[in-house]
Amino acid sequence: MIDIENYNNKNVFAQIIRGEIPSDKIYEDDNVLAFKDINPQAPIHILVIPKTEHCSLNDFLAKAGDEKILKFFKTLKKIINSQNFSNGYRLITNVGSFGGQEVPHLHFHILSGTNLGKLVP
Ligand code: AMP
Repeated sequence: MIDIENYNNKNVFAQIIRGEIPSDKIYEDDNVLAFKDINPQAPIHILVIPKTEHCSLNDFLAKAGDEKILKFFKTLKKIINSQNFSNGYRLITNVGSFGGQEVPHLHFHILSGTNLGKLVP
């Protein structure tokens, strides 16, 4: 059940937050980190993560509380605005195995820099 998954702090994004492995950071504050995806699927491919221990969007929405949820999405908005995506962008979060989630720490993919076409599996 994706909703009651236990967080595993050995995942790669937890290691990035702790500074144990490097990342190409584009934004950081006390609560949020944004960095370039190591295997970009578009000319611009940014990952945005909360620094709190949440496995997925389901886990975050269930447990984080309204104040933290609002603060996170306001920061996500700030990061998106800072990128000047005048021709648009795609925002994705994969949840669980059917969603194709590989890293069990909530992350949003921001993709842009080209026409991404239709969303196909
Ligand atoms: P997902 O399939 O939604 O879990 O996406 C995980 C993403 O994390 C993939 O796009 C990977 O390319 C990316 N990724 C994995 N390891 C790293 C890393 N060390 N630094 C940056 N991105 C990474």
